[in-house]
Parts: sequence; C-alpha cells; structure tokens
Amino acid sequence: MGERKPFIAGNWKMFKTAREAMETATALVNRVSDVTGVEVMIAPNFTALTAVYDVVRESAVRLGAQNLFWEAEGAFTGETSPNMLRDVGCRYVIIGHSERRQYFGETDQTVNKKIKAAVEHGLAPIFCVGETENDREAKKTFSVLDKQVQNGLKDLRSDDVAMLVIAYEPVWAIGTGKTASREQVQEVHNFLRSLIEKKYGNELANSIRIQYGGSVKPNNIKALMEMPDVDGALVGGASLDADTFSKIIHFQ
Ligand code: PGA
Repeated sequence: MGERKPFIAGNWKMFKTAREAMETATALVNRVSDVTGVEVMIAPNFTALTAVYDVVRESAVRLGAQNLFWEAEGAFTGETSPNMLRDVGCRYVIIGHSERRQYFGETDQTVNKKIKAAVEHGLAPIFCVGETENDREAKKTFSVLDKQVQNGLKDLRSDDVAMLVIAYEPVWAIGTGKTASREQVQEVHNFLRSLIEKKYGNELANSIRIQYGGSVKPNNIKALMEMPDVDGALVGGASLDADTFSKIIHFQ
C-alpha cells in the first residue's frame, strides 16, 4: 500500500452566506487545530471563497471550490475559471458532482475538460463518480463507473492523475440518509483502484486517494475508514455544522 493520508472534505453546496461561511470556518479551524494525520478541506459557495480563505489561510484547513469552467478567461457569462479559483486561495475543486450532472447538464465530456483545465492550473480535482439506484438495481454499477472513469480521465497523463482525488458517491446515498454499506463501498473502491491500475500502473493506483460520499455522519465514518480502500470522505449535510464535521474529522 502506498502512503495515503486520509482526506475529509466538506461540500457546503448552495448553503451559507459569506458571513455564515466565515463563522462556520472559524469554528472549524478552532476545533481541528489538533489534527495532524488527516487532511481537511471545505468547499463553500463561490461568493464566500475570499472570506473563508482569510479564515483558513494560516491553518491546515484547505479551501476548495464546487465547480469551474475550463477556459482561462473570455465571454462566458456566469462562469469562473481555474486561475480565478487559484487567485482566491483554492487548492481543490470538486468536479462532476452528481447534482451538477443531474441539474446542470454536466456530461463525462465536460467533466473531462474541467479536470484537464484544473490540473493545468495547479488545482487538484476531486473527481466525483457514482451510480444511480436504477443502475445498481439493474446490476450496472461497475459498467457505469467504468464509463465515467474512462471518459472522465480521457487523454490525461499519469502526472495529471497523480493530482487527482476520486470521490465515489452513489447517487442514491446522497442526502438521503441511506449510506452504502461499508462492504459495498469497499467493493467499489477496490474496483476503481483496479481501473487506475490498468490505465496508469500499480504505483499510481496505490497512491491515489478515493473518498466515499453519501450520508457520511459522525456515527458511520469510523467503520467506513476501516476499509482498506477508503481514504476519506466527501461530506455534504454533516459538514455544515462545525461541531458535527469536526467529529467526523476526529474519526480515529
Ligand atoms: P451528503 O452529500 O453527505 O449530504 O449525503 C454528499 C455529497 O453530495 O457530496
């Protein structure tokens, strides 16, 4: 096994004004100042990035964005470029979240463009993949994930993929309170790692971090993290409250 530092990330989605985000970030920084063996990231809304960066910049908490556009600049009303995200202190960017695929027309192809643009500008992508409930019932989980990974990583070189974090987020477990069982999660993470191994070799497969996302809570994180191929979590609802999120980060 390679060295994979556990990585717990909070996706704040479309919650919190800049002031509220700053307050939560401040509380979180205080609560996790003792944490050394776990990497922590929060991804607030775009309008709160600058304010939150001021709070976390001197701490170990990293800043991430929830989306980006692949061009550096131009006439693209409403969009935000990778260099603009770097400029306000982001290290990470969530790409291909199922909510973006479902409501905002993201496809494997746009996800691929976004991943390329992120790595080109030194932003580490958190690349989200996951099957729907129908896919799972139809026993298509592995073929769906295979397609998302092959298309999402099309033409990416090993150096690019080395920057990546993969988040496995079964769509049926997001915000539903239904967590995948840790055996289901392990089975998929192991499969995802094997896809990376086939494409990029053993070393990269062993070093890439794979997070689980979908109703992660303080009471299920420990069991999930005990699985050999689970390297962290992408947390939605339970990351919005500093106390609750801090409990997840202190899973050990
Ligand atoms: P949830 O969301 O933790 O609220 O289920 C996870 C996610 O969408 O990243």
